Amino acid sequence: MSRQSVRDMNRSHKIYLDYAATTPVDPRVIDAMLPYFGQVFGNPSSVHRLGQQSEAALETARETVAQLLNCQPNEIVFTSCGTESDNLALRGVALAARRDRGAQHILISPVEHHAVSNTAAQLAELHGFEVELLPVDANGMVHPDEVAGRLRPNTAVVSVIYANNEIGTINPLAEIGEICAEHGVPFHTDAVQAAAYLEVDGEKQHVNLMSIGAHKFYGPKGVGALFIRQGTAILPIQTGGGQEFGLRAGTHNIPYIVGLAEAFRLAQQERVTRIERLQPLRDHLIGQVLEEIPHSRLTGHPTLRLPNHASFVFAGIDGNALLMMLDVEGFACSSGSACKTGDPEPSEVLTALGLSRAWALGSLRITLGEGTTADHVEELLRVLPRLVANLRKIH
Ligand SMILES: *Cc1c(COP(=O)(O)O)cnc(C)c1O
Repeated sequence: MSRQSVRDMNRSHKIYLDYAATTPVDPRVIDAMLPYFGQVFGNPSSVHRLGQQSEAALETARETVAQLLNCQPNEIVFTSCGTESDNLALRGVALAARRDRGAQHILISPVEHHAVSNTAAQLAELHGFEVELLPVDANGMVHPDEVAGRLRPNTAVVSVIYANNEIGTINPLAEIGEICAEHGVPFHTDAVQAAAYLEVDGEKQHVNLMSIGAHKFYGPKGVGALFIRQGTAILPIQTGGGQEFGLRAGTHNIPYIVGLAEAFRLAQQERVTRIERLQPLRDHLIGQVLEEIPHSRLTGHPTLRLPNHASFVFAGIDGNALLMMLDVEGFACSSGSACKTGDPEPSEVLTALGLSRAWALGSLRITLGEGTTADHVEELLRVLPRLVANLRKIH
């Protein structure tokens, strides 16, 4: 091992470039949450004053989230995470559509997060739904015409991810939503990544259901929300008390709900500033990687992508080995979805783009965020070409 890499191994600092996996909690968000762990600890369902203080915080958070999503407070359900929001949307709507109108067809994209795709798979296995996958183009984008051609009178729900976590591609949500609305089919979108940087408007984008999760936009892990348009038939998937309009039983996690609302407010308020700073860094990174590393490709759409998101494939290397080498050099990156670590199979999202196994196994996702500086990007660019070249020599 060279002296240089030994020195790098001893580096105490880490350069975090994995903001699509999770983000640190903004100190302003922590400040907003703190009173609700101790001073104001009442159960919002209690009648007494302590309970009512918690209830007030809950309803203020609900109003904030509703305003940001351009909907009514009674259209917001708080959940324990983005995954739960996706589960409630898909399972809750599919089972209601089955009960009310015998629906048995589910239409999703092949580039959904596992929170959607595995829920759809279980609905097929246990409840007899037929799950149809929409085609995507080579950038991983769903085209509205493809949705129109596949809707059936018995379609229970359509689910298309807003902005993809692995490849960053942004889908034409409003157009897809309009088609679903014309046919009276409920449309769900997983906006867990998108909510950090994109416009999220339940009304304009013609969605019936939209999932968000706080830890992708500098809020705490373990809290999410689901927008459910008034009039959308949905059944609870967690039963118990009557919390959250009877759709999500369980005593509210008030500090986390307050944290989600504050983080979401800050993300949307500072959206443009954050984009203006990160997008040029992202574009520089993408340009340099493609120029300096032979047999490299960008995955996802070249322009209609998350402003902090750069994802690549390098032919003939093992993406997990690259991640480990980057880690030794002090960089925290990802191969795509954080949930896939240790999985030797190529990502389903990458194979849906038409990439061969040899390309898809060599994936790298670099996602920038509030802590990222231009220097961090330069430091990465100094080591990445060498690491990829070294890995290719091993093969
Ligand atoms: C992170 C993520 C989820 C899951 O959210 P959790 O809050 O971690 O459960 C779902 N969908 C997408 C697109 C994500 O990026």
